[in-house]
Amino acid sequence: MNKASPPTENSSEDGEAPPSGGRVSVLFPLPLPKAYDYACDGAAPSLGAFVTAPFGPRQVTGVVWPSEGEAPALEKLKKLAGAFEAPPLSPDLIAFIDWAAAYTMFPKGALLRMVMRVSDALEGPRMQTAYIRAATPEGLRMTAQRKAVLAAAAEAPQFASELASAAEVSEAVVRGLADAGALKRVDVDPDPPFDPPDIERQGPALSDDQQFAAEALADVIAEGGHKAVLIDGVTGSGKTEVYFEAVVAALKKDPEAQALILLPEIALTLPFLTRVEERFGAAPAPWHSDLTAAQRRRTWRRVAEGSARLVVGARSALFLPFKKLGLIVVDEEHDNAYKQEEGVIYHARDMAVARGSLAGFPVVLASATPSLETVVNVDEGRYDAVGLSSRFADAAMPDIRLIDMREDPPAQGRWLSPALVGEVDRNLSVHEQSLLFLNRRGYAPLTLCRRCGHKMTAPGSDSMLVEHRFENRLICHHTGFSMPKPSACPACNAVDALTPCGPGVERVAEEAKERWPDARIAVLSSDTAPGPRSMREVLDAMKAGEIDILIATQVAAKGHHFPNLTLVGVVDADLGLAGGDLRAAERTYQLLSQVTGRAGRAEKPGRALLQTYQPDAPVLAALASGDRDAFLAAEAIGRRDLGFPPYGRLAAVTLRSMDEQALDRTANALKASAPIADGVEVLGPARAPIYRLRGVARMRLLVKAKRNVSLQAYLADWLAKVKVPGPVRVTVDINPYSFL
Ligand code: ADP
Repeated sequence: MNKASPPTENSSEDGEAPPSGGRVSVLFPLPLPKAYDYACDGAAPSLGAFVTAPFGPRQVTGVVWPSEGEAPALEKLKKLAGAFEAPPLSPDLIAFIDWAAAYTMFPKGALLRMVMRVSDALEGPRMQTAYIRAATPEGLRMTAQRKAVLAAAAEAPQFASELASAAEVSEAVVRGLADAGALKRVDVDPDPPFDPPDIERQGPALSDDQQFAAEALADVIAEGGHKAVLIDGVTGSGKTEVYFEAVVAALKKDPEAQALILLPEIALTLPFLTRVEERFGAAPAPWHSDLTAAQRRRTWRRVAEGSARLVVGARSALFLPFKKLGLIVVDEEHDNAYKQEEGVIYHARDMAVARGSLAGFPVVLASATPSLETVVNVDEGRYDAVGLSSRFADAAMPDIRLIDMREDPPAQGRWLSPALVGEVDRNLSVHEQSLLFLNRRGYAPLTLCRRCGHKMTAPGSDSMLVEHRFENRLICHHTGFSMPKPSACPACNAVDALTPCGPGVERVAEEAKERWPDARIAVLSSDTAPGPRSMREVLDAMKAGEIDILIATQVAAKGHHFPNLTLVGVVDADLGLAGGDLRAAERTYQLLSQVTGRAGRAEKPGRALLQTYQPDAPVLAALASGDRDAFLAAEAIGRRDLGFPPYGRLAAVTLRSMDEQALDRTANALKASAPIADGVEVLGPARAPIYRLRGVARMRLLVKAKRNVSLQAYLADWLAKVKVPGPVRVTVDINPYSFL
């Protein structure tokens, strides 16, 4: 189960004087299911306060938590060691952590750890010395270097390093000037507050549709209390401007309220920060994995004290210590990147709605292709919805056409069909941009020996090694393992027999460069542009019209606006349909409508061509006809018939071990001991599709239950009955998205 080893006993040592004063429970940011009791001298620190207490052999920082169960006698308790001045966690965050732990079946302490990731934020500011301009003292010995520093000095404090680099001198020159009295030393907080968003600032004049939607959201906010509202509108319909109005309404309604905008991807976050700054005259507090430690600390502290009123972040921003959160917006709510698969497994969209529901504030979801979960919630009246029906300023939706690859196949060893090649030719001749989309990194997804049929896999793993030609390596996308491509087959020693099979973006780029030698061609995937900044450079070049053909994975699919892009070619529209997990068709629909939505966002009409071997698949037919609602209705019927989410509940119980025999035995013992319950079915155990990764084998049981069953209670009851041997780890994933 998602649990840790039992804690060390917490009783006072012999001979210690019984503590006086009160008693508090403390939850530690460790994988522990409950809080521990301590005694404290004098007044007990308030609920949510950060405190230090002895735990086992160490002093550990935790949070004062609501007491549960019967407390042991006061004299048996150890004493709290200290308290921090940092603002306490809000009662609604505490309630959220308790709820989320129960829902995800991870220990409370593991969830608290997500709140307390910024280790030095509790210490308070460590003031730093900075320098400002001062009157030049008489007789100051002037040098060229000193002159340069004084020219760079200003009213606003700057650190020695900043001044020195502006003046291209060493820091000693700066300090020398301060000693001589020509600069003044001042103490500054290294984590300055964020400028507040200007909520009086006028946004753009809204279209009638936008106005209607914005007013509906403002009504929900004025009414107060929790409500989830979906903004449903095609890409480019102006959803962002609408939810900005909701942010204004929430921040205006309560001068202490804070708002959080969640985005699924960091590559989207950076340009979005600029957009928020343009709208609100001040940059929001950012939260994502690319921040420096100092930037994290600044956001964490300012969010905790309540002065950061608008936060833009990735899913983990949900666990920031907001003093008074009053609105969450989940943009691209359908995006699977909201599901966290490592550590505590949770879905940030669902958690955001739960957070709003527990604390009594509205949650806005925005998408052009809402998830079936959300659509069903709207249909059944649990969520409200507002729609934006057309693109802003009448930019037309792209014309989408399927290319039947059985009838119009590419030449041997090529991946682009004559029809698609013809369209790219046409675009090049009129100087418009094309995007060739293939959601597969690297050069070739499979490397096979032509002599003996050996497939290259990572050691101890069943995952295929993907050839990456830029780096000339074979890489495992699941474990990160990589090796130079060998010249001989490791199984039969045949030389030069290892053959790349199938295309990745790099291989399509190779074909494109051969075909269009004079075109400006760029490749974009997380390998070719590692890190959000280098990705940004390619995206900016695309926006500026410096690229004719961009060949990209899904990193280019989302949220970007390329005014001169008029053709999107999907190289393999069937890719996401293979493997068939329960959301395969839905995910394909979402991804392909996102990527085809990149075409023709400005005045020029766009077109999209989807290469497919299954033109009759309902998802592809729906994409071609643009009939999203018919597609969703058909999906809904399929899921309802099978009792899958959102019509039923599902949990994955995954067992992992290096010891395959213990794994098999435990999986079968678990299955045998599954309680018989009305409306619950346990499927499996089955090997995971990629059975071994880095020597660890994985088996899975799926628990399917009717909607009225408490899956968590069933699982807790079941898993408590089976003794899991040491070498086997068991994790529970409530409502799984990944079945690999
Ligand atoms: P979505 O979030 O639905 O994809 P956006 O809000 O990003 O759409 O809007 C698409 C484009 O239209 C953006 O460039 C945006 O700045 C512009 N836009 C949207 N609404 C307005 C408006 N009311 N006035 C001016 N420009 C707008």
